[in-house]
Amino acid sequence: MAQTPSPQTVTQNRTRRLAIALLGVLVCSLLGLDMWQSWTARNQALANARNNALNLARSLAEHASSSVEQADTVLTDLVERVQTDGADGAQRERLHRLMQAATAAHDQIHGLFIYGPDGSWRVTSNDVDPPGANNADRDYFRYHQAHTGSGPQLGKVIASRSDGALIIPLSRRISGPNGEFAGVALATLEVRYFNDFYKSFDLDPLGVISLTLDDGTLLARRPFEPKLVNTSVAKSRIFTTLLPESSSGAQMFPSIVDGVTRMYGFDKVQAYPLVLIAGQSEQAVLAAWYANLWRTAGFVGLLLVVTVLFGALLLRQLRQTAQTEAELRNAHAALETLAMQDGLTGLGNRRQLELALPHEMGRARRSQRPLGVIMLDIDHFKRYNDRYGHPEGDACIRSVGQAVLACVNRSGDLVVRYGGEELLVLLPESDLAGTRWIAQQIVDAVRALAIPHQDNEQEPVVTVSAGVYVWQSSEAERPQALVEAADSALYEAKRAGRNRIAIHAASTVTPPQSASSTAPQG
Ligand code: GH3
Ligand code: MG
Ligand code: MG
Repeated sequence: MAQTPSPQTVTQNRTRRLAIALLGVLVCSLLGLDMWQSWTARNQALANARNNALNLARSLAEHASSSVEQADTVLTDLVERVQTDGADGAQRERLHRLMQAATAAHDQIHGLFIYGPDGSWRVTSNDVDPPGANNADRDYFRYHQAHTGSGPQLGKVIASRSDGALIIPLSRRISGPNGEFAGVALATLEVRYFNDFYKSFDLDPLGVISLTLDDGTLLARRPFEPKLVNTSVAKSRIFTTLLPESSSGAQMFPSIVDGVTRMYGFDKVQAYPLVLIAGQSEQAVLAAWYANLWRTAGFVGLLLVVTVLFGALLLRQLRQTAQTEAELRNAHAALETLAMQDGLTGLGNRRQLELALPHEMGRARRSQRPLGVIMLDIDHFKRYNDRYGHPEGDACIRSVGQAVLACVNRSGDLVVRYGGEELLVLLPESDLAGTRWIAQQIVDAVRALAIPHQDNEQEPVVTVSAGVYVWQSSEAERPQALVEAADSALYEAKRAGRNRIAIHAASTVTPPQSASSTAPQG
């Protein structure tokens, strides 16, 4: 059967639920705050890295542009001189000295060359030229042979025919007076010059810098790997997606060369077909963030453990308090029951009657229903004690009590031990007929117990006498007056010969003295 929980249990459950909810909110807030903080810190780290990569790419592009431009200026000057003054005789010697001086003055320039229309070496910055050398087979030579344009031409990396160094060719066409092909002026830019410059930057071990042609051909790189020279990175996202949309930018993605994810910045040189790429590894970009993440995760974890432990302790404390309170309540209830119970018979005692009687009278008044009272007393009990002994007397009182109890069966009915061998029965909402019937039942039931009582007057068994009074509840009255009325009826029953009931004559409360008007029954 489902029991309605006590108000205390309801309050305790509510407190427990509140504590659990508070803990939940605390834990969720901590986690949420940590996750939000980590998320924003990561975005911040990535934004910084993006800026750094972009700035680095722009600076490097500026450097590459000015390096090439310096060489190109020298080249333009040479072309101009050759086209105006030729390259023979004294002019040849002047050009040679000029070319040597320019080569010495510019670190990036490895050598300067003027080729005739057949590819033969006419003037160079070299001290000694290899005999019979011819460059008609070089790509840049063929290009200028086939194109009349006077602009500069940057080519893939080649090995120098002078000393085998890796060089990037920068060339211009030399035209005759009528625009005919008259040869090529070439400046060779050292790959090592760019590699060395890129090495001077403070990058993480997985960081890269690449100098490429705008078709993705790799010219110089940090870290430098000779086998990567002239390979194409045209399939990298920078060339396939980003460059077509913007000449500079930054994005994080995995490298097609080594698979390392980096934040790449790129910038296309405006004047020459060059692209600069600078990348820092994701690992380096987020290193500080990761370190901080673990630190805060550790701290938050610790805080969570402490919170959960504290919560568990709190809940245990709440549970223990609730348990203690329940035990106290039970103990109190048990004490209260004990305080209102008669020790010998287990029936209610006089104190219970004192509490119940005013209460029942109030109810009777409100419902305007009668209240039946029966006072019972064992007949010649003194004699019983005398013959059978006091312990037998006690057992007898107990048996009589149980017999009386068996005769009342409505939930509001109450049987109490009023005095030594006197019992009182309270029958709420019981009218005269009902009360009289119950009283008679009791008298009959006790006699039917057939407890031997040799010294009883009429029959040699234990019998009781009953005084009945029914209060009609329409008039105000003291509770004790009801008991006194029933008692006076009992007196009448005794007087009339015992083992019977007597009914108080009044239907409303009358003073106990009017007991003389009762009519013996039985
Ligand atoms: P009556 O028929 O007029 O009632 O005669 P009685 O002898 O029963 O008279 P009364 O009711 O005055 O006597 C009460 C006796 O009940 C006195 C006492 O010996 C006995 N008694 C009272 N309380 C107890 C008890 O707790 N145990 C036992 N064994 N006897 C008790
Ligand atoms: Mg008595
Ligand atoms: Mg008696």
